[in-house]
Formats: sequence, structure tokens, C-alpha cells
Amino acid sequence: MDKIPDMIIVGAGLSGLLTAWRCLDVKPDLTVLVIEASDHIAGDHTWSFNLTDVDESLREWIKPFIAYQWPRYDVKFPKRERTLEIPYCTGNSETLRACVAPHLESGRLQIMLETKVTTLNAERVILENEEMLEAACVLDARGFAPNENVFLGYQKFVGKVIKTKQPHGLINPIIMDATVKQLGGYRFVYCLPFTEHEILVEDTYYTDGSELSEGEVSARVDDYIEAHGWGDHEVVRQEKGILPITLAVDAEYPIYNKKTIYLDDVQQIGIRGGFYHAVTGYSFPSALMMAYEIAAEIYDGDIEMLPSFIAASQNSHWDNEHFFRLLNRMLFRAAEPEKRYKVLERFYKLPEDLIERFYWGGLTENDKARILIGKPPVPVTKALYNFSEKAFIKRERAQRERKVRDKA
Ligand SMILES: Cc1cc2nc3c(=O)[nH]c(=O)nc-3n(C[C@H](O)[C@H](O)[C@H](O)COP(=O)(O)OP(=O)(O)OC[C@H]3O[C@@H](n4cnc5c(N)ncnc54)[C@H](O)[C@@H]3O)c2cc1C
Repeated sequence: MDKIPDMIIVGAGLSGLLTAWRCLDVKPDLTVLVIEASDHIAGDHTWSFNLTDVDESLREWIKPFIAYQWPRYDVKFPKRERTLEIPYCTGNSETLRACVAPHLESGRLQIMLETKVTTLNAERVILENEEMLEAACVLDARGFAPNENVFLGYQKFVGKVIKTKQPHGLINPIIMDATVKQLGGYRFVYCLPFTEHEILVEDTYYTDGSELSEGEVSARVDDYIEAHGWGDHEVVRQEKGILPITLAVDAEYPIYNKKTIYLDDVQQIGIRGGFYHAVTGYSFPSALMMAYEIAAEIYDGDIEMLPSFIAASQNSHWDNEHFFRLLNRMLFRAAEPEKRYKVLERFYKLPEDLIERFYWGGLTENDKARILIGKPPVPVTKALYNFSEKAFIKRERAQRERKVRDKA
């Protein structure tokens, strides 16, 4: 790529590469430069999702990304076990790299590795060595960054992919095994049986703070592995995650409710832009949809329209997640830590099609009523106290200010 690229994407993670892949697929004369701080693209990850999170029109396209697919999965709670007939899929770093490989070979996709971007706007980026690069459009896909207008809890986990000597015997993924001891928050174990001998076991917990005691959680994974008779094994890979779970978003947040789009605004995609599911912190379905929609804009020749398109998408994403943020406040602030699992135990009693809609973000008003109606698994006074997002934000801000004052 000797000429100036049409598009620069900062960050060769999930959203950056899905967007590059889709845009290059639909527009045969497009050129894209992806700038990545680390020494390789696509990280070292697995990304899972319900097949029903993906619009039917996109399923053929993402087939090469899917490394494993199961027809159904299980959930387990102290008083409920259930198998859901919802196909579950996992992609990984290798399959994502393979998806963009043809575009790398054609030269239309170029990657700069070990290059940190320090400053960026809608049409230019400045690198650590102060070099400046320009393009008709710059997208910011640098992953999570805290934002003082977004109030968070966290989903944290440590996972190990192990190879067992004997077949492990698990057929279906277990998306939540919450029969484990609840330790100061909602805790569950997540198991993905990749092959007869290979399985991912992940110990996950939802708590207020972002700190992760990796050693402690890793030991819990080992205990689970041992208790299930998979003790004779080797560890193939280990991963950890601290994912944002949104409790509230301030309506004054400059991106949210933004009426004016400035030409210089850099456009954020992926987790950076808030495009993740508020309850799970998972971003694959949103990243995929954004990649598809950005590519459609570019196909129509509207590369200059991308800033307003992405800002509008951010606004409608935050709007759509109002209800999820309310549920999170119930889970994190209304329920007693050791009893938070009951919120999910109750949720998994609901019809399968409602559960599908919950995950892809398409709940109807009727669905929302069904989720809320009935004997609440949280104290009513605490539920009411945390109902209003505005009042919640006011209290959180006051608490932050008190902490700053106390420190001074
Ligand atoms: C271990 C783990 C497992 C997860 N599992 C799932 C899952 O199963 N399903 C799901 O939907 N979600 C999952 N998530 C959540 C989320 O989907 C991922 O975090 C996803 O990778 C986010 O995509 P992204 O493109 O926004 O950011 P990332 O994939 O994190 O990519 C950001 C990239 O930007 C680069 N970068 C950062 N700063 C700079 C800079 N200044 N200059 C240049 N490059 C920079 C980083 O090195 C990185 O490569 C998981 C997260 C983790 C951590």
C-alpha cells in the first residue's frame, strides 16, 4: 500500500479486525491500514456467542470465524438445571487471523505491529515516534478505557484450556454452573468442551471492584477440574478477563445524546465505543453488527458520513440498554452478594425465545414485564432505591467526591 490508505483502524483486536475484514470483503478497491501496539494481531482469545445473536443474513459470512459449534447448552443452579436448544459458537484468534489473511495477501490490508498510537482524530493518527499518518477515515478500536460518565461493576474470570488424559465426558457447554459456592458476589463456572479431551474451564464472578485475584481464582478452577475427575491433564492455555458491566450511563455523557457531530471526533468501535452487552460484557455480536453496518456505509460511498453514523449507533446502543442497566443495578446493588445467583436462577425459568432475545438485545416490552413480574429475588426496598438511573448516578458521584475529599 504505497498510497494513503482509505481507512486507518487503531487496534487489531476483535472489532478492528472484524471491521477491516467486512469492509475489504464488500469494497474491492478499498485499502485499510491497521495499527497494533502488540507484536501480533487478534490477541490470544476465544470469543463465544449464541448463534441467534447473529442476524441470519450474516451467518454465512462469519462461518470461517467459527471454530466450534454446539447445538445446545446447559445451565445449572442449586434449584434448577436446564438444557437450552440454542446453538452456541466459539471463534478464536487463529480463525480471526485466517479470516483477514486473504486481504493481507492481496496487499489491500496492511498491519503495523508494535506501534502505539498516542493521539488520533477522525482523519489522522500520531504514533509514539511522532510520525503522523492520514486517511479518509480513522476508527478507534483500542479496547476498554474507563469513562467517568459510565458507572460500572465487573465480570472477572480466569480460564484454563486443559487436555485430559481420559475423555472428559462433557457433551454440552455449561454456560453457567452456579451450583458452586457463592463467594461475595455472583459466581459460576463456565465449561466449553472443544474436543473429547480438550475443555475450557473458567471461574467467573461479578463484583463491584475491577481487581482480580488471579492466583485465588486460578486455584478455584483447579478445584473444579479436580472435583469433576479431570485431574489428570495438562494446561494448554490460560486466559483472564475483567469485563465492564454497565450499571448506569449519565445522560450528560458527551457522546450519549450528542446533538452535534464534530468533523474531528474520532469514531470509537468495539468496547472502546461502549458496544458490548451491558449484562455480560460480551462484545462479539455488537462488533459484528457494527462491522456489517460500517461496510454498508462504505459500499454506498459514504465514508465521510461514518462519524455521524457511528455516533448515532452509540446513542441508540445506550438507549437500548436502559433495561439491562436496571437489571444490573438490581444484581449488584439490590441483591445480597451470596444470593445474587437467584436473579439468574429465576431468569433461566423464562421461555427460550425470550432468553434468546435477551442476549441479542431484542427484548420486547412484554419480555421486560415478564422478567420483572413475580416475587422478586431481591429485597423490595433495595430494588426501589436503585430503580432510578438518575438518582443512582447522583449518589455515585457524591460518593466519589467524598472519597476524593477523604483522601486529600
Ligand atoms: C479473556 C477474554 C475472553 C472474552 N470472551 C468473550 C466471549 O466469549 N464473547 C464475547 O463476545 N466477548 C468476550 N470478551 C469480551 C470482549 O468481546 C473482548 O474483550 C473483545 O476482544 C473486545 O474487542 P475490542 O476490539 O473492543 O478490543 P480488543 O479485542 O481488546 O482489541 C483492542 C486492541 O487495541 C490494541 N491497542 C490498545 N491501545 C493501542 C494503541 N494506543 N495503539 C495501537 N493499538 C492499541 C490492543 O493491543 C488490542 O489488540 C472476552 C474478553 C476477554 C478479556
